Amino acid sequence: MAEIVIRNLHKAFGDFVAVKESNFTVHDGEFFMLLGPSGCGKTTTLRMIAGLELPTSGQILLDGQDVAQVPASGRDIAFVFQMFALYPHMNVRNNISYPLRSQGVPRAEVRQRVDEVARILGIEDIIDRPVGGLSSGDRQRVALGRAIVRRPKAFLMDEPLGALDAEFRERMAEELRALHDRMGATTVYVTHDQLEAMQMGDKIVVMNHGVVEQWGKPQDIYDFPATMFVAEFIGSPPMNFLHFEASLEAGASVVFLSGARVPLPRLEMPTARGRYALGVRPEHVRLSDDAAFRGLVTATEYLGTTQIVSLATPNGDIKSRIPSGQRVQVGERVGLRFNTQTLSLFDAETGQALALDRASLAATGDSGKVRIHG
Ligand code: ATP
Repeated sequence: MAEIVIRNLHKAFGDFVAVKESNFTVHDGEFFMLLGPSGCGKTTTLRMIAGLELPTSGQILLDGQDVAQVPASGRDIAFVFQMFALYPHMNVRNNISYPLRSQGVPRAEVRQRVDEVARILGIEDIIDRPVGGLSSGDRQRVALGRAIVRRPKAFLMDEPLGALDAEFRERMAEELRALHDRMGATTVYVTHDQLEAMQMGDKIVVMNHGVVEQWGKPQDIYDFPATMFVAEFIGSPPMNFLHFEASLEAGASVVFLSGARVPLPRLEMPTARGRYALGVRPEHVRLSDDAAFRGLVTATEYLGTTQIVSLATPNGDIKSRIPSGQRVQVGERVGLRFNTQTLSLFDAETGQALALDRASLAATGDSGKVRIHG
């Protein structure tokens, strides 16, 4: 089993920086997601962990030992390239046992380890079948078996479910996660799908343009995004931004949006005069007649138990997720109230979140009883 520590990992291809001074830690046994849009450097990061690409600088500590310049063969990590890349002329048993046979592992041990893997994957009944006629789910299990049988320190997977249709993808995602829980092996998994990352991962690192924007538990990233990029990339619909200009003093616990007073958790550091954005998730925007901050309903989208209401406000367009039973009409002007505890505040110039003291709300409550500053 393995812990993987990434320290100041950097990769340039000529003048182009694909991965910039990355830092994160994959703890032993974690299912760890590398998430971000196409071209953000996920695969390059994974390939460096595998040893298929050498970093320009930085460290990759595998159980405390720096392997950054060690070739792939010396790392004891299994890269599950493509789930469907099997040897077509071999049966299931020979596909799975291939890595052991090529290492010269004794026959009796090979047999015992393949049987064990077949049991873990639930494919004992097809173990002597040719791979040609297998369903895509079984082919995927066999490909996984070939990686598992080596008992590597960690598994690396690059969009393994990418080619599958939605329903099958969901089933395989559940199966992969369950398999991981049974085996407890450290896994690093690349995806551009934020839902897949949230559903499967113990931790997520979100990358953009080669930079690690944030890493941590899915819920922490969802609730407290470190940057506006993360706030928009995670969540569907994404986090709303209400734009305003101000200078805020340390300890401020209210902002004014077009004259309306909006309480927020206490700001820890003062800010210079500039452009800021209040971040609020759609499910934390409530329609409330008595609220001073108001918006115009421009559209509603029925989603079964909830509906998404689009609103135009003087500080930008936002969306609210409310129960579908709640009556609301396009063209109506409504008051908007936000769940104070869940608000984020961003410097709109840098995109970085500002530190808010959420514990401060325990003392002042969430009801608008706040100290006014400035
Ligand atoms: P995708 O999901 O599209 O694969 P990604 O996040 O995995 O995206 P990478 O494959 O890591 O992104 O690529 C990051 C950037 O580095 C891209 O702009 C890519 O074109 C560039 N890149 C990757 N490998 C090389 C290379 N060998 N030479 C030059 N540029 C490269």
